[in-house]
Amino acid sequence: MRARRFAPLKYVGISTTGDWEFLNEQTLAMLEAQHAELPIDLTARLLSKFLIESPHQGNGTVLLKKARLGAKRATVQSGTTLHIIVPTLQCAHSCQYCQVSRSLESVGHTMSTEDLDAACDLIFDSPSRTLTVEFQGGDPLLRFDLVERAILRIQQRNAVEQRAIRFVIASTLHQLTSDMCVFFKAHNVYLSTSIDGPAWLHNKNRPIREKDSYERTWSSIDLARRLISADSVSALMTTTRLSLQYPHEIVDEYVRLGFREIFIRPLSSYGFAKRNQAKLGYSIDDFMAFYDTALERVLWWNARGVEIREVYAAIIVNKLLSTFDAGFVDLQSPTGAGVGVLVYNYDGYIYPSDEARMLAETGDQSLRMRAIRGPADKDVHVVTQLRKASEPDSVDGCQTCAYHAYCGPNPVDAQAQHGSMFAPVRSTEHCARHLRLFDGMFERLSTASEDQLDLFHSWAQPAFMRGRVCEK
Ligand code: SF4
Repeated sequence: MRARRFAPLKYVGISTTGDWEFLNEQTLAMLEAQHAELPIDLTARLLSKFLIESPHQGNGTVLLKKARLGAKRATVQSGTTLHIIVPTLQCAHSCQYCQVSRSLESVGHTMSTEDLDAACDLIFDSPSRTLTVEFQGGDPLLRFDLVERAILRIQQRNAVEQRAIRFVIASTLHQLTSDMCVFFKAHNVYLSTSIDGPAWLHNKNRPIREKDSYERTWSSIDLARRLISADSVSALMTTTRLSLQYPHEIVDEYVRLGFREIFIRPLSSYGFAKRNQAKLGYSIDDFMAFYDTALERVLWWNARGVEIREVYAAIIVNKLLSTFDAGFVDLQSPTGAGVGVLVYNYDGYIYPSDEARMLAETGDQSLRMRAIRGPADKDVHVVTQLRKASEPDSVDGCQTCAYHAYCGPNPVDAQAQHGSMFAPVRSTEHCARHLRLFDGMFERLSTASEDQLDLFHSWAQPAFMRGRVCEK
């Protein structure tokens, strides 16, 4: 058992299976002293959560513990389920926080049809019966011809393969047409877009020459909801320094637009975003203050009968309250990069994650795996290194961390921030942020009302994460 003080005078004990129990100082002291005189009901609870071991432990307990660990790791072990295709880097926006360089020029920024066809075929090398194919960019809808070609090719092959396949397109939606909607409806395609808050804030964060980015995205969301389905579009937001002052306004905008989810994400440390850190960046304290207020507002709306889920909190409560892991790549340990997810990039190469291909745009190609149409030998080296750098049982700092059943190092993040995937984990932003997020959620759980606990349990169901990645 590892113990953690998540708030003044508040402790939690966590077992290797991720089961936990709130502890007071006295119980903690008794446990640390391996005191035999714990109350009988507490002893039974601690045993059932694998926080203490019985000297008479039978084979059944060992098997049960193994099954619990297996359920937590199922998403890392089931093969590559998420396949990201980047058909083009073209984009009409010039967002300062964008993680990738972008251009309206097609030449040099668009995938060849030979690479695209080969990527579609490679997807079926994964043994997983359930696959998500996500199109990222740039803005994939600027090359709808390539998206359409890929979907048709994958579906043709799937007539034989019979996998469960879900398609997602991450886009500003500015190019969306009625004809595209008809195609998307026929082929089970979902759309993911960005809404950073009210129109004035969104248009500041995501400028285009005509200054009406929000209005264009909103009119396409409306079109998709009418022609595809009411829940065909999800949205996420990126927190800039400007956003920090408006947590209520941002959440209220999502409610006003009828979204049932909001994903409150910090600024990324990749590519353009990294170069603009001095202008756009903020501290973890600033982000957490913003995040806590925004989450509070989400809970406020739920208490008034408006269903809306904050995705980051859902990811955390999934770790704490569910037997089955939802498979969020950033918190898989060892990392899901290159294992649970693969990216087929416009440049003809495969990368282990969306962030790794963004890193390559800044000149760091150390995480490039191999050419889409090349031999697979280099894959093994990159994936082995990523695994070695993210195995929480052997990484200093994680080995002793109470949250190590839920979390682990993010080697791609470490490479981006420190130039090495083996950077000391406790110095990474990923670690500092997740310590705070887990502490904050334990604090909420320790004071939650019955209704709030019910809400968190409903958020914890893993189905919500299927196919969800770090959409642009
Ligand atoms: S990355 Fe940080 S919070 Fe996560 S398990 Fe490792 S030490 Fe703990």
